[in-house]
Amino acid sequence: MIQWSRGHLFAHLASVWARTSTSFRTAPSRARALLPPAAEVNAVARGDAARTVAIIGATLIDGRGGPALPNAAVVVRGDRIVAAGARDAVDVPLGAEIVEAAGQTLLPGLIDAHFHLDGDNGLLALYLKHGVTSLRDPGAWIEAYDAARATPVPIPRLFLTGPHLDWPPPAYPSDAMLVRDPVEARRAVDDLVTRGASGIKIYFRLPLGMIEVVTAAAHERGVITTAHLETVDARDAVRAGLDGVEHVTSFGQSLVPPREAERYRQAVIADNSARRNGRYQMWSGIVADSPPAVELMELLVSRSTFVTPTLAIFERRAGEEGASEAYVRGFANMMAFVGAARRAGVRIVVGSHSSVPHAERGRAYQREIELLVESGLTPMETLVAGTLESARFLQIADRLGSVERGKVADLILVDGDPLKDISAMRRVKRVMLNGLWVEPPP
Ligand SMILES: [Zn+2]
Repeated sequence: MIQWSRGHLFAHLASVWARTSTSFRTAPSRARALLPPAAEVNAVARGDAARTVAIIGATLIDGRGGPALPNAAVVVRGDRIVAAGARDAVDVPLGAEIVEAAGQTLLPGLIDAHFHLDGDNGLLALYLKHGVTSLRDPGAWIEAYDAARATPVPIPRLFLTGPHLDWPPPAYPSDAMLVRDPVEARRAVDDLVTRGASGIKIYFRLPLGMIEVVTAAAHERGVITTAHLETVDARDAVRAGLDGVEHVTSFGQSLVPPREAERYRQAVIADNSARRNGRYQMWSGIVADSPPAVELMELLVSRSTFVTPTLAIFERRAGEEGASEAYVRGFANMMAFVGAARRAGVRIVVGSHSSVPHAERGRAYQREIELLVESGLTPMETLVAGTLESARFLQIADRLGSVERGKVADLILVDGDPLKDISAMRRVKRVMLNGLWVEPPP
């Protein structure tokens, strides 16, 4: 289905880049533009080509970050958006099914860049009902989705990485594939991409040299890499060509004095679970506008690195059981860092992590959006992060992530105005996936 993009020219350009990147440190952002669009692993039912739907009167937030457009009209034929604009300026074809949406906000379907299924197959339909039309699971066997893919129940588009690549002893054996040398690493990347992976996830025990090998191999096969870091400095990993960084905590080591960073690194190498308390201790002293933080943000901006903060999984508040002062201060500093990173121009995307302390089942994505706003992103920046920017990270922005003529019709209607109150994103009333309205699960 994406034959052209895996063709000769691309393979040639990518391999030239992969060879030169190690020796000359070419900016990975330029290489990323050469990567082909990603494909979901599941078949998604498609709107009838003979049917036209016109959504009239909503306020349109199209995902690109421009001003919201009140009283808009969006026309969908089959699975495509054929017109989007001011109501007066859009021709609504005769015979179109009209959906009156005054008082509602129309947005692109939401994209979750960090989703975990963990055997809860029903969560997929629930996420779709709550507006998530595409997701990436950064670290699960592709087979873990077989049962969900086999049911007729509509679920979001699934972009998978396969198990994360780690080094012994793995923190999560059942979600890991161990690679112990460059040959094993290249073989693992080849195998996963051949089986449908549209990205490669690097896990936190993998040493820097292996990150470089995995990233070069992934780019040769036309997919991005993204990492959860604990034992490698994020600055080194980004310079090695990483496209994305998962979890704000991955930056901790880059933001504390070298001796403290090395102590943390040794503790985690000796015992994977040392990160759980250790990261809060480390973050309780991190200042978002310190010189190392500013320098790190400049690096992330210059490399166009995507950052998925997954704040909601780390949320700890004063007065909660087990939330020491270091936990509370550590989390507050994580939020401050994310806000400062966005102001510095770092590319922030939305990852829910599926199951988080301050959200009921199915609401982790909405909680993450609220925490991004609390961190200092504007509601519009947050909505762009969750739509077009996440689409760019997933390599699907050619067809998804915004409401524009020619794009695929993954749309949501929300009650109220999320620009005034971001919690409106909890009130998703209707979801269109591939041009078809999704009926809520029973
Ligand atoms: Zn995760």
